[in-house]
Amino acid sequence: MKFIFASHNPNKTKEIRALLPVAQIDSLADLEYHDDIPETGASLDENAAIKARTIYTVFKRPVFADDTGLIVPALKGEPGVYSARYAGPQAKAADNMQKLLANMKAIQERSAYFETSICYIDAEGMEFVFRGRVEGEILKEPRGAGGFGYDPVFLPLGEKESFAEMEAMKKNRMSHRGRALEAFIRFLQAK
Ligand code: IMP
Repeated sequence: MKFIFASHNPNKTKEIRALLPVAQIDSLADLEYHDDIPETGASLDENAAIKARTIYTVFKRPVFADDTGLIVPALKGEPGVYSARYAGPQAKAADNMQKLLANMKAIQERSAYFETSICYIDAEGMEFVFRGRVEGEILKEPRGAGGFGYDPVFLPLGEKESFAEMEAMKKNRMSHRGRALEAFIRFLQAK
């Protein structure tokens, strides 16, 4: 099995390769595709589809793309589709986390979830969507040095360690992306 993973993010590519060891996965860096793909969709599903379609149009090979958001119901779903640029277009993970913690300062109800949508386009151009979710809560301050993005402030339900404190493979298996990928793998196995 050979796929393109339509992402410029080396952290995500590493996670995906660890979870899909039987497949050969070309990242956009491997293909020397450096153009930015605009994430202008109103939902995670739309953004994943935009990325997959853009790359399918260029390479005409099976491709999948993912889009993830951290959803905080007490903040009316923020940061949601804006998770990557919550604190502004050039924001770094630390800026986004600080903005989130500041917005939640007076909020007791701290439940949150990560959601991932994967869009897969097969060799014939057929599109399929797979989703995964992990529930948890937003910590009052960052904990741990692993992972990326909002990992230091996310405590998965029933766990004692934040995603950033957790051993990488444990996070990968229980994560939103891991679960969406599991659904994708089940689909591939059933074909
Ligand atoms: P993307 O759509 O996968 O690029 O994710 C959008 C944003 O969500 C990223 O820039 C991160 O801030 C955040 N994010 C995505 N996946 C994770 C994760 O596994 N842990 C923490 N934050 C994540």
